[in-house]
Amino acid sequence: MCGIVAGISNKNVLPKLIEGLEHLEYRGYDSAGVAILNGSIKRIRSTGRVTSIKTKVKNSKLEGLIGIGHTRWATHGGVTEENAHPHISNNKIALVHNGIIENYVELKNDQLSKGYSFSSETDTEVIAHAIDFAMKSCNTLISSVQLAIKSFSGSYGLGIISSKYPDQIIAARKGSPLVIGIGKNGNYIASDQMALLSVTKKFIFLEEGDVAEIKIDKISIYDVDGKLIKRPIITSNLK
Ligand code: GLU
Repeated sequence: MCGIVAGISNKNVLPKLIEGLEHLEYRGYDSAGVAILNGSIKRIRSTGRVTSIKTKVKNSKLEGLIGIGHTRWATHGGVTEENAHPHISNNKIALVHNGIIENYVELKNDQLSKGYSFSSETDTEVIAHAIDFAMKSCNTLISSVQLAIKSFSGSYGLGIISSKYPDQIIAARKGSPLVIGIGKNGNYIASDQMALLSVTKKFIFLEEGDVAEIKIDKISIYDVDGKLIKRPIITSNLK
């Protein structure tokens, strides 16, 4: 088990991403990373503890209003910085993934034939390239994600950002939990509400197959059939 946290806010989100990752440490992990959108995508990754990310972030003076973070439990590819998430395609898409893409070899061969190159040994990198490829024929980020995930077999919790759509995070889940946190200064996602209790007590639990578009002032959720739906907002009594 491992973790995802992401947020879009009117303040620098990095401190909340790091704090969220610290609250996910109990799930076990071998490496961690964050990516921030600030004009372009900027990424910091490291093997080992979240504290090494914290130090690197501090030294980099990185800031941004939208970002994603991950603690990895390696399933495909060794424990290396290159395999740590977030993974990026074409400098345009960055994403974090919990789970396993079972048909990644087949997808990878197809993407290699389309001219994509790979910088990691993970199953995850095919997700980033599949979304980048889908963006060529779709006119929103969420529709690109909805198209790309049709080709995956396996499990995923996903947090996705794109330099082409700097006002949103896309979340998707199948076989891995994801919760949306509705905060005062922004909206967040995480694989466990524990990661978000310092920003909100209001949560929406995504269901199997849901895909959500999360903006600072609007959250839209689509079910497995692509139908716009409402999920209940639950107030947590956890501290
Ligand atoms: N299968 C992916 C990897 O090995 C994600 C692992 C995870 O859920 O942390 O990078």
